[in-house]
Amino acid sequence: MSYLDSYTPQSGTSEVRVTHYDLDLDYDILPNTLRARAVLDARVLEDCSALSLDLEGLTVERVLVNGQPSSFKQAKTKLVVDARERFSVDEALTLEIHYGGTPTPASGAWGDIGWEELSDGVLVAGQPVGADTWFPCNDHPSQKATFRVTVLVDSDYTAISNGELVSVDSRGPRTAWTWESREPVATYLATVQMGQYRRGSVEPGSYPPARVPLTLACGEHLWSQAQHVLAKQHAMMSVFEQRFGAYPFGYYGVVVTDDELEIPLESQPLSIFGPNHMTESWESERLIAHEMAHQWFGNSLTPASWSDIWLNEGFAHYAEWVWSEASGRRSAHEEALSAHAELSGSKQKVVIGDPGPKKMFDDRVYVRGALTLNALRMAVGDQTFFTILQRWTGQNRCSNVTTTDFLALASKVSGRPVEPLLHDWLFEKKLPALPETS
Ligand SMILES: [Zn+2]
Repeated sequence: MSYLDSYTPQSGTSEVRVTHYDLDLDYDILPNTLRARAVLDARVLEDCSALSLDLEGLTVERVLVNGQPSSFKQAKTKLVVDARERFSVDEALTLEIHYGGTPTPASGAWGDIGWEELSDGVLVAGQPVGADTWFPCNDHPSQKATFRVTVLVDSDYTAISNGELVSVDSRGPRTAWTWESREPVATYLATVQMGQYRRGSVEPGSYPPARVPLTLACGEHLWSQAQHVLAKQHAMMSVFEQRFGAYPFGYYGVVVTDDELEIPLESQPLSIFGPNHMTESWESERLIAHEMAHQWFGNSLTPASWSDIWLNEGFAHYAEWVWSEASGRRSAHEEALSAHAELSGSKQKVVIGDPGPKKMFDDRVYVRGALTLNALRMAVGDQTFFTILQRWTGQNRCSNVTTTDFLALASKVSGRPVEPLLHDWLFEKKLPALPETS
């Protein structure tokens, strides 16, 4: 068995490729108990006598391989499924796993991640390796798959997952919510959000409506405040479509939990905020822009390995500056000037092109990532810069990407090698000087 990513060696496997997850979750809110069945469509990648999936904190009762009961073992974070004889390379498998228990977040280097109880509901914060706290998976961003998730829960709760809502089946006191994502989803973005939520559209208010439907789910008591604060998403969506290219999914949804959240979370095609983010402040506004931008950078275009995390966070941070500029606040370059001044005063210990697992979510990856894009924009000019971003999102829609891919595309579009220009920003610790304005 070999791992997929040196940043997360405990997660993921190269033995099998899962192409589709069909999850049937029967959940009781108050005791926090889950009874579940996962059906995985998979293909064997290596000849082996057993294959492993990520799963932690839950107990597997039964495994069927192509309909036949199979023996299995569970270790702390792994479910190991035995072959009858051998699994052969290229063999197609259907793995049916019956499991359950009391899901809890996994704690580790990145805090508590995964399935988390709220005071009245559930959220999932899967990044980077928390998906295995609620379903058996190959937990790595390169292992995107389609999903169908059914959640059976008490009828006064709303259950939200990835993609489109395909059915709401009321069975008296219990209701089954089925969601389907035809676009592939990285496991860290797979989600379930539950609460006593009202669902509906975000009204544009005085903004011209976005091309893409915008939805909201939150408690009734937060509804009008959230509507008020999120109306500007209509303008944001139009600006981002113009600058970054077509929005990659069918709609964009926001969930506002009852509980305050330290940071918002990205999912696909959703973002999750706390009521503390539903304010008029620039701090809230920039986070709302940041999370929306992740639909392009992170969700549609997902890093092939965690060392390329700046492709998510640097781009989403730069989107905050793009929105600031477009909405008549400070220009992106003014934002870059003050970010650079601030960064100059802190220790330059992070190489953003390979920050290491402990510094993956360091602020400097975000800010210096945005400064890297600012340096590119200064060098190639606005028109070429946004053409690069549009080609980047267009050519790589719903797939995996690397920093090398980005540098190659930027060089091709701009007609000049950009690696020498961006090398020190990405791969050296010392902070380069900000480029001069022409
Ligand atoms: Zn982010």
